[in-house]
Amino acid sequence: MSKPTHDGKFRANKALGQHFLVSEKAIRTIAEAIPVGESAIEIGPGPGAITTSVLARVSQLTIIEKDDRFAQFWQEKTNEYPNLKVAHGDVMEVLSDVVATDNPQWIVGNLPYNISGPLTALLASFSLSGGMVLMYQKEVGQRITAESGTKIYGGLSVLVRHFYEPKKLIVLPPGAFNPPPKVHSMVIRLLPHGRAPKCSYEALQKTVRQGFAHRRKTIYNQFRGQLTQEDYLSIGIDPKKRPEQLDYDDWVRITLKLGKV
Ligand code: SAM
Repeated sequence: MSKPTHDGKFRANKALGQHFLVSEKAIRTIAEAIPVGESAIEIGPGPGAITTSVLARVSQLTIIEKDDRFAQFWQEKTNEYPNLKVAHGDVMEVLSDVVATDNPQWIVGNLPYNISGPLTALLASFSLSGGMVLMYQKEVGQRITAESGTKIYGGLSVLVRHFYEPKKLIVLPPGAFNPPPKVHSMVIRLLPHGRAPKCSYEALQKTVRQGFAHRRKTIYNQFRGQLTQEDYLSIGIDPKKRPEQLDYDDWVRITLKLGKV
């Protein structure tokens, strides 16, 4: 099995957020979070820092890559790796179809930082039996794993908790990548918590989007005209609270009260 080169052969394209992972420890941590014999999707394999290690473990891997060079590179590798499939395209456009077709247990990726917000909102909508291992810019990883009551807690912190329990695995300095980004990075793991959701993900997403639109407003004012003070009291929520003070269960109760199920 030849290991693809990370540098030299492929020049990093900044517009596609390309910072290639070179830290062996990080590569091991990410790959070993996926149990041997399970199936996965990798988002943005690039020249393959994570891909080769993951391919050696999984029963089936589908890679999603927008960059023509890497899509072609991995397409040519499908003879060498019978458990590899290639989806060439923008992850935001093809991910739902690939998940529906492949029904993977895991999703893994050193994600392109420029689309990490909308991509995470999409990822969190899939209920996978295994989970996800994802690399983010450190600040985004902190926001996703944040607990309610903290300043950095936001919509993504709520959405990932619909199906998953988020956990920080490691923080990496810029030198773990080539070329080095300006910021630190964080690998997080999402494992299914196994509790059946009481509302749909789409309904929760609508509530959260509206509810966090103005962080300084009280929750009562965010939904003024839709929910009364009594509505909040009937679901055990103080209407004077601000969005970052509400935990996942509070957001679900608001969603149900709004009648968005
Ligand atoms: N996995 C490699 C690594 O860890 O060294 C590369 C990670 S690099 C941070 C992000 C990867 O995502 C690149 O390969 C880039 O081409 C790809 N990418 C960027 N935007 C994308 C998009 N919208 N859809 C699919 N892949 C994308």
